[in-house]
Amino acid sequence: MVTQSDNDVRGTFYIVATPIGNLDDFTDRAKRVLQEVDFIAAEDTRHSKRLMNHFGIDTKLFALHDHNERDKASYIASLLNDGKNVALISDAGTPLISDPGYHVVNFLRQEGHKVVPVPGPSALITALCASGLPTDRFSFVGFLPAKSKSRRDEMSSWVPSLGTVVFYESTHRILDCLADLEAVWGESVQVALAREITKTFETFLNGSVAEIQRILTEDSNQTRGEFVMMVSLPAAEEDNSEALKILKILLKELPVKQAAALAAEITGEKKNALYKQALAMNEE
Ligand code: SAM
Repeated sequence: MVTQSDNDVRGTFYIVATPIGNLDDFTDRAKRVLQEVDFIAAEDTRHSKRLMNHFGIDTKLFALHDHNERDKASYIASLLNDGKNVALISDAGTPLISDPGYHVVNFLRQEGHKVVPVPGPSALITALCASGLPTDRFSFVGFLPAKSKSRRDEMSSWVPSLGTVVFYESTHRILDCLADLEAVWGESVQVALAREITKTFETFLNGSVAEIQRILTEDSNQTRGEFVMMVSLPAAEEDNSEALKILKILLKELPVKQAAALAAEITGEKKNALYKQALAMNEE
């Protein structure tokens, strides 16, 4: 295992969260670190320059995005080896959360560099905590595929044990995405939609996927901006396939009532439920 020792003279790599809308959410520590480091690696330097100017931060910026981050990892390591401190920011929120930086942090950790998080806003947690959906267990799945077929495949792979499923969605796909969700999970699956959080038009909508679609279709303003979608999957139906198999065999020899009673005794399943199933099987 590679670790950093206390007398290491190498610089530190800071991962700094920036606001997702409301500039008051920029922490004092984040601003101080960004002012004090030697370099800031930013997803989009022009975008971040505006934020830095607003706060009077004049640290040098360089670009680190999806297309160059593997190359930049060794460049950043060389800066740190020279004793320079470097901070990473993304366009908004917490870097690495559906944003660049993973390859750099993974590389720096392997090389034993000091990586320090400076926490702050992230759309994921900000949306979830106010959603009213279960928070004791949740799964963040980033952005879903852009194509409907792949999106439906991804949705079909979800299981209730994931807890609340949280993902990011764009204004262009929000209606298609809701339609796919209804097609895969049915019209009554419960959804919370967080839009433009921490901004002027912050909106939380809760309801069935059918209700949310209706609201967005009737008011196109509700399709504008940035979204976090959260889905509460229905509890898994009990798997009683073994009981049904036994019931089917018994039905060949016995009347419905007796077959259901015997199947219930053998499997421990509820007699009433098996009786209803037996009636249905008899009709087929
Ligand atoms: N790293 C960021 C974070 O920690 O939140 C997320 C970056 S990801 C590229 C951008 C997506 O996050 C947007 O497309 C949207 O789905 C979501 N998002 C960011 N800011 C948001 C906001 N204020 N309200 C709702 N969703 C937001």
